[in-house]
Amino acid sequence: TAPLVEVTGLTVDFERDGRSSRAVDGVDLAIAPGEALGIVGESGSGKSVTWLAALGLLPARARVGGSVRIDKQQLIGAAPKVLEGVRGKRIAMIFQDPSSCLNPVHRIGWQLVEALKLHRGLDGAAAEAATLRLLDQVGIADARRRLGDFPHQLSGGLNQRVMIAMALAGEPDLLIADEPTTALDATIQAQILALLASIRRDTGMALVLISHDLGVVAENVNRVAVMYAGRLVEEAMGQDLFGAARHPYTQGLLAALPTLTGPRRRLAAIPGTVPEPGKAPPGCAFAPRCPLAEPRCQSEPPPVRHVGLMHRAACHLQIDVGVSAWNLPRAAE
Ligand code: SF4
Ligand code: MG
Repeated sequence: TAPLVEVTGLTVDFERDGRSSRAVDGVDLAIAPGEALGIVGESGSGKSVTWLAALGLLPARARVGGSVRIDKQQLIGAAPKVLEGVRGKRIAMIFQDPSSCLNPVHRIGWQLVEALKLHRGLDGAAAEAATLRLLDQVGIADARRRLGDFPHQLSGGLNQRVMIAMALAGEPDLLIADEPTTALDATIQAQILALLASIRRDTGMALVLISHDLGVVAENVNRVAVMYAGRLVEEAMGQDLFGAARHPYTQGLLAALPTLTGPRRRLAAIPGTVPEPGKAPPGCAFAPRCPLAEPRCQSEPPPVRHVGLMHRAACHLQIDVGVSAWNLPRAAE
């Protein structure tokens, strides 16, 4: 099937004090209708910026290059009117902090009615009925009583559900959920992720789940893309990524995941930190932290290559399936 959304060669540069730093560096990604894609990476890897760029939500000092299409509609450089027609209606986005989407001075019922007016032209009794349906869809019991509540009267989990309801008001084809559960405790987190999965199944919308935590996406997506310092470093179907990761960075993230069933082990975080935007080394951005870095890694950026069916990785080495970079002898210094 044709992709719903196709990102090609996306770049984002932030201008500051006459200097420019690259936050997204040539990302290619496709999203099929109805699929769930996880995008994983540490803070500063470009995973949020990619989608803010697609929706025209970056500040004016950002320069965006490349292409993002939904169906055949080009979003990069599109007129404000075009982007208004896409935001909320075709692509909706939710965030870690519900106050980024919910207005503290308005009752939630009013906010949902406004969203339904804006996106679907509903009014009066039709808007009220649709509001109750949305709250029901996001698992809010006693919806009618909740309409008069202000966001501050609701728990974190309930606010998250209201924010999801707002995002669903425009019946989007794609929902981008950016760290939607990071601020919540584990039980509520699992409930919200299950809710997003069930909404996806019921509506057929596609879902992009952005997280710094590989564990969060593990059970909730079909496919995973891993980003590092503004680049896509690995992409595979979930079982291939979790069972046969080929990039040293992904392998390091996996090694640091606590196992639910296996024996307890010490969590070995990857040493070092992600380079700041614009400060990535000229070759492979991961080279300063990679146990296998070779001289060419310092100077030549590795291309994203197919390493299996629907499996891509950006590494000069072709590590054998089942072998972890972190267990191999180190490259000679
Ligand atoms: Fe490590 Fe080199 Fe592969 Fe980068 S290209 S991940 S530095 S081996
Ligand atoms: Mg982010």
